[in-house]
Amino acid sequence: MIPSSFDYVAPQSLEEAIGALSEGGEDAKLLAGGHSLLPLMKLRLAFPTLLVDLRRVPGLTGIERENGGFRVGAMTTHHELATGGLGLASAAAATIADQQVRNRGTVGGSLAHGDTAADLPAVLLAYEGEVTARGPNGERTIAAADLFEDYLTTSVGPDEVLTEVRLPAMDGYGFGYQKFNRRVEDWAMVAAGALVKKAGDGSCEDVRIGLTHMGPTPLRAGAAEEALRGQGLDAGSIARAAEQAAEGTEPPGDLNATPDYKRHLARVLSRRALEEAAGRA
Ligand SMILES: Cc1cc2nc3c(=O)[nH]c(=O)nc-3n(C[C@H](O)[C@H](O)[C@H](O)COP(=O)(O)OP(=O)(O)OC[C@H]3O[C@@H](n4cnc5c(N)ncnc54)[C@H](O)[C@@H]3O)c2cc1C
Repeated sequence: MIPSSFDYVAPQSLEEAIGALSEGGEDAKLLAGGHSLLPLMKLRLAFPTLLVDLRRVPGLTGIERENGGFRVGAMTTHHELATGGLGLASAAAATIADQQVRNRGTVGGSLAHGDTAADLPAVLLAYEGEVTARGPNGERTIAAADLFEDYLTTSVGPDEVLTEVRLPAMDGYGFGYQKFNRRVEDWAMVAAGALVKKAGDGSCEDVRIGLTHMGPTPLRAGAAEEALRGQGLDAGSIARAAEQAAEGTEPPGDLNATPDYKRHLARVLSRRALEEAAGRA
């Protein structure tokens, strides 16, 4: 379908972009890779009157290692993240759609959009990372746990630009990413991303599990994490902990899977992701 008509600006600085967004009011939208926004516009599920294109704004791309972590610019593409050697984040980005989508879709766009079926939001939760948002009233940091509020709703304000993502380096952690879909390039029916740190005696010192598509927002599998922390990292301990991966979740049923089937997937994928992560730790 053809989207309804809209104005378009391509500012050359962040200040200009924030100004355009504020002036455009609630019907103005930022345009990053366009791979979520444009399909919604074509389906007439979104009808912004002004698009503020971020592609000419300098300083929003690239991955840098700093202060014991990584700074990922919001306009960094999924392809750049997938090939950036960032462990879990790169593994998850590599599973996003196909090469064309990965070449255009951006990390900031995915996180600001906050789709529970997207790969990066749950990964950000597992890292306990944070994002920076800049608006007319200045800059603020939003922790991953405070970013995803509801279905397609994040705490980034309508007049704010998500400028960068900060991920701790997770040195000493192994990672595993498991995504289940019907075709390789599809969205996740369910996905699980795990980070595991081994103690000196081989037991589990720390563990994080992020779940994709198990509720209106991405989630941590807190009960499974709790069950594994301090235990051995043998197959039996991992399997017992992963049995609790769906605790407290309310996954939406859809054409592909019932809620019960998604809970089953969460348990199986968490086990596999934990095994993968423990093997690398
Ligand atoms: C065929 C297809 C398959 C896909 N499969 C997957 C998949 O398997 N896994 C997956 O995770 N994703 C998938 N996607 C989505 C893809 O990853 C998108 O690129 C991503 O969700 C949004 O990023 P974008 O840069 O395209 O954002 P856009 O579409 O440009 O924007 C999305 C929303 O975020 C806002 N926004 C964008 N950038 C910012 C910013 N810096 N600050 C504040 N707000 C901002 C926009 O205003 C808009 O509301 C798929 C997309 C397509 C078309």
